[in-house]
Amino acid sequence: MNGTAMAPWIATQAVQLLAQRGHAWLLAGPSGLGQYSLALALVRAWLCDSPSSHGACGTCGSCHAIDVRTHADLCVLMPETVMLELGWPLSEKAQADIDDKKRKPSKEIRVDAMRDAVEFSQRTSARGRGKAVLVFPAERMNNVTANALLKTLEEPPGDVKFVLASDAAHQLLPTIRSRCLGHTMVWPETDASLAWIEGQGIPAAQAAVMLRAAGSRPDDALLFSQSGRDAQAWVRLPKAMARGDVSALKDWTPAQTVDALHKLCHDVLAVKTGATPRFFDATDLPAGGSVAALTTWAGALAAATRTVEHPFNAGLMLEALVSQAQNALNSTH
Ligand SMILES: [Zn+2]
Repeated sequence: MNGTAMAPWIATQAVQLLAQRGHAWLLAGPSGLGQYSLALALVRAWLCDSPSSHGACGTCGSCHAIDVRTHADLCVLMPETVMLELGWPLSEKAQADIDDKKRKPSKEIRVDAMRDAVEFSQRTSARGRGKAVLVFPAERMNNVTANALLKTLEEPPGDVKFVLASDAAHQLLPTIRSRCLGHTMVWPETDASLAWIEGQGIPAAQAAVMLRAAGSRPDDALLFSQSGRDAQAWVRLPKAMARGDVSALKDWTPAQTVDALHKLCHDVLAVKTGATPRFFDATDLPAGGSVAALTTWAGALAAATRTVEHPFNAGLMLEALVSQAQNALNSTH
């Protein structure tokens, strides 16, 4: 599965869900806890030629077809940006449009893709073990696509099962939520997370920093390491921001920068109010900053989050962000 071994806490949850009946599951919880991995484990088991109570066998024709992304009885419904990220092929038409630069990959689940999925669910199973539809992230459906899915969920054509995974399940239509069995993703223990991250070839010291930076969400910690950013840069970030050192952020995207500053602001405020920091080690945080100025900074960062995907001028934005950070972290009142 993407060359990454299934995390033990995902395997445990898969066993629990597979023991229950249900033609539609909604996996919910904050991002980075493995919703997608669990959803994929479920559809692999559903379609597997010789599944056990532990899930898919991993060696049959069906498992192989999923691994190479060509299973005729699996429909993956995702925004095109996510499909490309996770290595799923787009429909011929969508790929041609993007290749011809007619449009960019969509960040929403497109109406066309939903139409294909509805048609898919009405077809006969090609391999004779039923069919599965995987929707991720489910909150990226607009009203039209959500209603089309709802209709299919209400009148499922017999041999099709659904798994929806979302890190914002509250944004889904209540009627969709009520048609699914709900499962809340389990937070793994820190030790188990660290062991799993180290198992992907990350040295222990870096794994601990990355898990912290990701707010204890193991999948996000792995993304941090795959983004090419250095764990030491995270450790040094708070004091670099207090000095107004823009170069500390040179390898970071605008979105990563705003996310990091949010976490820094959160932690400095936490310490001021007697709570434990969550994303940084307390000893790495600057001592300064007034609660009032830090609170104002938090508000400015929330506004920055809304524009970060389309900065007017990325260089200017970065300088403004660092200057805000420096002011807040050195404020005395
Ligand atoms: Zn199998």
